[in-house]
Formats: sequence, C-alpha cells, structure tokens
Amino acid sequence: MRMFFRSTIGILFLVALASWPTGFVEPIDHIYWNNLYKFVSHPARQDIVIVSLDAEKGVGSAEEAKVIEHLRAMMPRELFFDAKVQTGADPLGDAALAKAIASFNHDLSFVVRQQNLDSFSEAAFLFPPHSIVGDAPIVVSAWNSNFIYNIVSGPVSVVLNGKTYPTLSVRLAHLQNVQATTYYPDYALEPATIPKVSAQDLLEGKVAAAAITGRTVIVTSPGQAPLAGYFGHEMVPTLVHDIAGASALRKPFSLDLTPLPLLALTILGLLMANRIARYRFRIPAYAILVAAIIVLPAMARTAGIVLGPAPAIFALMCYGALRIWQKRTRRIQQTNASGLPNLLALSNNELEVGRDVVVAVIARFEEILATLPASLHGEYARQIARRISIGAGAETIYQGDGGHFAWTEEARPLEMQIGHLEGLRALFSAPLQIGHHTFDTTIHFGLDRNEGLDTLTRVNSALASANEALGNGRAIELFEANRLAEAPWELSLHARIDEGLRNGDIWLAFQPQWSLADQRIYGAEALIRWNHPTRGAISPDAFILQAERAGRIDALTYWVLEEAITAALKLNAYGHRFLMSINLSAQMVDKPDLVPNIAEIVARRGIDPSLLTVEITETSGVRNRPAACHNLSQLRSMGFRLSIDDFGTGEASLAYLADLPSDELKLDRRFVSRVTTSPRDHAIVSSTIALAHALNQQVVAEGVEDQATLLALRDLGCDFAQGFHLGRPQAFPAFCAMFEQSQKSNQTRSI
Ligand code: C2E
Ligand code: MG
Ligand code: MG
Repeated sequence: MRMFFRSTIGILFLVALASWPTGFVEPIDHIYWNNLYKFVSHPARQDIVIVSLDAEKGVGSAEEAKVIEHLRAMMPRELFFDAKVQTGADPLGDAALAKAIASFNHDLSFVVRQQNLDSFSEAAFLFPPHSIVGDAPIVVSAWNSNFIYNIVSGPVSVVLNGKTYPTLSVRLAHLQNVQATTYYPDYALEPATIPKVSAQDLLEGKVAAAAITGRTVIVTSPGQAPLAGYFGHEMVPTLVHDIAGASALRKPFSLDLTPLPLLALTILGLLMANRIARYRFRIPAYAILVAAIIVLPAMARTAGIVLGPAPAIFALMCYGALRIWQKRTRRIQQTNASGLPNLLALSNNELEVGRDVVVAVIARFEEILATLPASLHGEYARQIARRISIGAGAETIYQGDGGHFAWTEEARPLEMQIGHLEGLRALFSAPLQIGHHTFDTTIHFGLDRNEGLDTLTRVNSALASANEALGNGRAIELFEANRLAEAPWELSLHARIDEGLRNGDIWLAFQPQWSLADQRIYGAEALIRWNHPTRGAISPDAFILQAERAGRIDALTYWVLEEAITAALKLNAYGHRFLMSINLSAQMVDKPDLVPNIAEIVARRGIDPSLLTVEITETSGVRNRPAACHNLSQLRSMGFRLSIDDFGTGEASLAYLADLPSDELKLDRRFVSRVTTSPRDHAIVSSTIALAHALNQQVVAEGVEDQATLLALRDLGCDFAQGFHLGRPQAFPAFCAMFEQSQKSNQTRSI
C-alpha cells in the first residue's frame, strides 16, 4: 500500500482526491454536463402544465382570482400558485383571490422562491401576505449552483423560521417521503417541451378542459422565477429546474455516489493498463478506460445516480500530460534504434549509496552493425541489453554510442564483483542470433566504484575504463582499480581535503635521497600522506587522482610546496646544501597561472629556487604540451631543477627528454628492482644512465630495496639513490634526526 502511494499513479490518486473538495475541478464537471446535455434530451411528461399570467397586461388580484376560479372548474389534480400576488390596489379583488384560494381546500400551494441562488437564510425568501395565503400550504424553490451560476442541485426541504418546507420539485414528483436530502435536476428534460397555457387563452375559453383536468398546474407570471443556468441550454427560469428536479426525483434512484467510485475505477484501470507489457495492447486499454469514464456518469445519471466525473477526468488528464512529458524527455534520453535509454539518462540519475557503475563495451560493435540491415540494429542492441540485464540482474540498461552499455549494480566486495562480471562475460560466449545472422560477441567491462562523485563523472570513468579494457584486451578494467579499490568515497572530496589540511590528517613525508659519490643524504622527496580518521592511511596514488578530478589538485600542490619549502629552509640551515623535490601533477603543468603562483610563493618565502626540484610525471596526461613545455622552461630559467619522474614508464618520457631542458632523470623502480636479477633491466638501466649523462642529466634510482641493488647502481655510475633500503618516507622530525645523523658521521652508510 505504501508502495502504491509512492508510485506515480498513487500520487495521482491523492492529487485527484484532494482536488475534489477544493472545487477547482468544478469547470471540468461543468464542461462535461453542459456538453452531455447538448446531445442527450427527452421531452417533458405532459402531466405538469404551466399557466402563464400575462403580466404586461397588468394582472391584478381580481384577474388572478378569475384564473384560479377558472382552473378549479377544469379540475386539475393540484395547483401551485407561483405568480406575483398583487394586493392592496383592489380590495375587492384581494378578497376574491383569498376566497378563490381558500376554495381549493389545500389543493393549492403557494410557491416561495429563493431570491439569490445558494442563499438559504429567511431573508432570501419572500412570503406572500398571510391575508391571501390563509392556511394554504407553502412550498419553496431553492437551489445550489456552481461557479457560473449554473444550478447543480437542490435540497429536498428548507427550514425557514423554524418550519420545514418541502421544495416544489418534491411536491411536483408527488413523493411522500424522500430518502435523499439533495437531488440533481434531470437536465435531459427539454425545457421547450413543458406544456404551457396562456391565462388569457384560458379565460377566453380557447383551452380544452382536457389540458388541465387531472394535471398538476403551476400558475406563474413572467419574471417571477429568476433565471439560472441549465446544463446544455441558455439560462432558463428556475421553474424549469423545479420541473426537471421532479423528473429526477421520479427516477428509480435519487442517489449521489460522489466522484470516488469513478476515481477509484480510473486508478484501477490505469494500474491494469500499465501492467500490459505490449504497447500495442495498452493503447486500446487506455481508450476503453477513457470511454468508460465519459459514458458511465451519463448512463448512471439517466437512472438517477450521480457520479461526479471531474476528479476522474482530472486524473486522466494529468496522467496523459505526464505520459506526453515523459515521452518527450525520453526522446532526448533514448537511443533511437533500440529504444534503450542513453547514457545521458543515466547521468541524470542520482545514484544511491552502495552502487557501482559498470560500462560494457562490445568489441567490433560497429563492424557487426555494418553487416546487419538497419531494421535489425535496434534488435542487436536490445539482445545485448537483455543478456546483460539477465546476467547482471540490472533493471535498466543504458546504451551509449559505439557499442557501450551501462548500468549500476550493488557494490559487492571487489573480488566478488570481478567474479560476477567474469560470469557475465561467460554468458556472452554463446553467440547472438539476430534475424538469420549469428554473431560471436566479446565483451569488456569498465567498473567505477567511486561513491560520492557525481554520476556523470562516474559514468565517464567507467566508460574510459571499458575502453581501456577493450584496448588492452582485458576482460575487466577497474577504474584506477589498484588505486581506488580501498577508498570508497562517500563525501565530496572538496570538503574532505579541506578538512584534512586543516586538522593535520594530510601531511608530508620526506624520503631521503642519497648521493652515491659522497654517501650522504643530499636531499629528500616530499611525498604527501593522508591519515584518514576512519579509513587509516590513504595512498597518494588514490587521492591525488581524485583531487585532480575534483579540481582540488592546485590547492593541494601549493600546500605541498609551502610545506616543502618550510622543511627545505630548516634543513638548509644545518649548513649543507639540501635539495627538496616535489611532485607536480600532470594536470597542472600546462596551467597559465602555475609560474606566477610558484614565483610568488618562492619570493615570499625567500628560498633559492635552485634548492627545489620539480618532478614531472605522467606526461601523457598533459593536455597542452606546448604550454607545459613553456611553463617548465620558465621554471628552469627561474632556477628550479627539473626532474623527469618514473623515467622509462610513460611513453612520453623520451619526448620530454627531447623537448625539455631537464636536470635529472628518476629511473623507475620497475627497472631498478630487477637490476641485479634481469640482464635486460641491467642493460636498460645502464644505457639510460649513459644516455642521461650524455645529455648532462643526473640520474636518481628509485626503489632501491637492498644493498646489492645499491652496489650495482654505483657500479653503473648512477648519481643518486632513493628507496626503502636507504630510508622510508617519514614525518619531518624523524627525517631531521636521520639527516642530522648523516651529517654528523658524514658517512653513515658504507657502500
Ligand atoms: P613517485 O613520485 O614516484 O614517488 C615514489 C613512490 O615510491 C612513493 O610512493 C614512495 O613511497 C615509493 N617508494 C620509495 N622507495 C621505495 C622502495 O624502496 N620500494 C617501493 N616499493 N616503493 C618505494 P608514494 O608516496 O605512495 O607516492 C606515490 C606517488 O604519488 C608518487 O610517485 C607521486 O607520483 C604521487 N605523489 C606523492 N606525493 C605527491 C604530491 O605531493 N603531489 C603530487 N602531484 N603527486 C604526489
Ligand atoms: Mg616523485
Ligand atoms: Mg617515481
């Protein structure tokens, strides 16, 4: 039930239900009934006759008395006097009128009319003088109207001055006891068909007695009954409503069922129609529902049952509008051929906590499409989506260009998730059958597990990883898998980096760099560290990349520079020249404000730039190479040392070497660690050192983990070394102690 009230149709039900008492759907009711009764009509029964006094000829009480006398002689069943009572001018006539009325002996009733629709106070009713009425019964005519004074319903009786008066309709219908308190006129009754007789003709003997005898006669004068709206017609005197009211009361039922049953039926119908899977069958279902909602109130009304159509029609209209809107947005967010939602649709979703984004890419998708007729393109994509949906248990599969399919899944532990995707891959080992064509399909996956980032970024990350997997032929590529697997980010990185900097969770570690020639510490590399209060240490590999994506790398880098300068100044105060290396993100090297910002910092801190080494890495990540080269050249001309980090890993390293006037190469630990065991790596290290020296570069070997490696490097002529064997990255006080020690003994490590 709670699910229902949260669904679109459930909400629609509540809105439509709320619309009913507020009355803002009244216009719908009005339009409905007004149009219905333009087409549906029946003639009035002939047993109620209107006798009209011609007021223009100045009808006084004497004439009125005469007409009443005349009518009495024709023996009507009953008479209602609904004309103006003209007393005072003619005392003799007044007496005659009173006498004529009394002679009817209770078969004549006076009609007291409500002067303004919807008002039921005593003042709204004008009673004729008692001298004329005597003890003749009194009936009232009173109505409720809608927002444009169209009569809708009337009460069965009205209480005035403590006395209950029946209404004219009830009396005209000759009903003894009416169950209902309200009734709804029968607007199908055609006003023009109500029998009408002129009082003048009557007095002149032009009216046959049969027209009056045994019938109910209402004596009226023009203008006596106010005009009011009558569905399907112009305004008519309320006397017509009285007669239509009697017609309604004579029906088998006089029942107001409220709009609820119809609204409930509409909602039920919508729910059922929505269950129909095939669009082709859903359309007729909607049509039947609309027809039922239109026809039912009309049919019920002919039997005297009132079913308010407005809330039901309102619900249908809202639903229709919603569907049109959804269709329009879906057109934007839908892939044309297959009808699957596209990646934009996924990116617009806000992902719940604990979801992984997966993108699958089909190898040779476009090639396969080219071999298929255009009419089967959609089917091909849909089949893939269906297989993924079954295998992954994902409800919605989104399709991107070029054979990419995306979905989200519950984030399982990494190994399970990879196992699960491998299972899905196995599902694709069975060929796809499209029309008469059979295809083998190879699928690769990109997985993004970075909770907390916006969906667009995550979809893009998974997409990039899927392409990477496709490129290197791997089944699954986790977006920065090794870096991010341990860091499920829940909060925005912005806030957390700022907080980490503020409270000291982010700090700098310093790893010593040794000179192999004089065997002492000549410098250090500043390496960022993050001790997350709940997650523990987070590797810089994980959060540097995240900071780059979140656009926080600049702030972080300048913070590192400031801290590193503070440390360098202190270490240089020991007396020896001490070099401090910092890492510069590839994302920042080409920025136009990089050089001015760094220049400002070094000027303010009063440090000699030649004491600072800028390490550049991941050269392929640089977007604007010429700008990067320009910036780095400028930094070098300011005095900074430039170092090419992880040399030998990035394909652009050699290009950097060619383009940039650098001072140092840092041999990647991948080669260094195997220098004693692998002749190939030994050759690479040896020739790289030779190349560097030929280009006037100094060489730093990274990742020196044992003495044998250190010796091999020294033999190859390497200048500097850095690695766990020589000293781990450590907090500044510990580093200072180590440095001091190295200075004092001047030879702490014998090589
Ligand atoms: P990198 O610049 O190549 O830094 C050297 C990495 O090798 C450091 O990892 C260091 O702890 C590790 N290492 C040092 N000696 C050894 C060893 O003997 N054996 C092994 N197995 N590893 C060793 P770390 O600190 O985790 O940093 C990883 C990367 O994060 C760095 O690689 C650098 O690219 C980046 N990074 C660190 N700090 C910063 C920073 O402040 N700014 C920027 N942009 N990147 C940074
Ligand atoms: Mg480095
Ligand atoms: Mg490195």
